[in-house]
Amino acid sequence: QAQAERFGAKFDYDLVTEVDFTSGSPFRIKTQNGEYLADSVVVTIGASPRKLNVPGEAEFTGRGVSYCATCDGWFFRNKDIIVVGGGDSALQEAIFLTRFASSVTVVHRRDTLRASTSLQSRAFANDKISFIYDTVIDEILGNPEIGAVRAVRLRNLKTSEVSEKPIDGVFIFIGYDPNSKVFNGQLKTDAAGYVIVDNHMRTNVDGVFAGGEIHDDIFRQAITAAGQGCAAALMAINWLGEHADSLQVIEDEQRDAPIASGKTLAEAVSGD
Ligand SMILES: Cc1cc2nc3c(=O)[nH]c(=O)nc-3n(C[C@H](O)[C@H](O)[C@H](O)COP(=O)(O)OP(=O)(O)OC[C@H]3O[C@@H](n4cnc5c(N)ncnc54)[C@H](O)[C@@H]3O)c2cc1C
Repeated sequence: QAQAERFGAKFDYDLVTEVDFTSGSPFRIKTQNGEYLADSVVVTIGASPRKLNVPGEAEFTGRGVSYCATCDGWFFRNKDIIVVGGGDSALQEAIFLTRFASSVTVVHRRDTLRASTSLQSRAFANDKISFIYDTVIDEILGNPEIGAVRAVRLRNLKTSEVSEKPIDGVFIFIGYDPNSKVFNGQLKTDAAGYVIVDNHMRTNVDGVFAGGEIHDDIFRQAITAAGQGCAAALMAINWLGEHADSLQVIEDEQRDAPIASGKTLAEAVSGD
């Protein structure tokens, strides 16, 4: 951040609630605290891992509950862990986690897995992986003394039987939700809501670029997201240079500070 600020970047902490990309540049970005006008926009608002929304999950996130095997697997060497989910990522990550963990139990709410058959075969052949089907986690229980996960409360959906399973970690892979709802259909997305960009990080709106997990549902790493964000920013700089003569003038005070909420774009640009 300090390096970016040294080169003139300005940071405002706010939540984008609405955008207007319909009339082209300048684009209008509405936030909780105001409104911005921008010649060009780089979208990097990421995706959020889906939560189980059970007691203990939020409390123990980072202390036994994780949504990222490559990030946190290392901390579970010789430990017993649960992977929640039955799709490709759940099995892929379960297999990966066997590099560290003593045992990996896949807990899935249905009686069959959704993952590809090749992943299923690899998981079934792995001695460290076992499966609990038709079952959900109702609660993640912690050890108050050390502030870490100690067990989960499981419920069989077919028999309603409830049991407690001692465990060191819970990895949750039940999908991601890209944070693209805020664009309200103005940026083209795939069926899952990931913003579609071309190989120059261009969205369907001329002057709007995107990078990171808002468009990438494959790599999901800090370094790939940063690289894509950088590529998108380079494209935005390039685009601004190419359109310098035709861009509508945004007054300095509008450019540098949130404009009052409620102004129309025309009012904002004309300064009325
Ligand atoms: C628990 C966890 C641990 C991880 N650990 C690692 C690791 O060790 N190494 C690694 O390489 N990767 C790790 N990852 C993955 C890595 O964090 C992501 O791949 C990367 O951060 C994605 O970058 P991004 O900029 O696309 O999105 P994010 O980093 O998610 O940034 C998006 C930002 O946009 C904000 N935002 C969302 N909606 C709005 C809105 N409407 N208005 C304004 N702001 C908004 C969010 O609050 C967030 O700050 C981890 C992921 C998780 C979930």
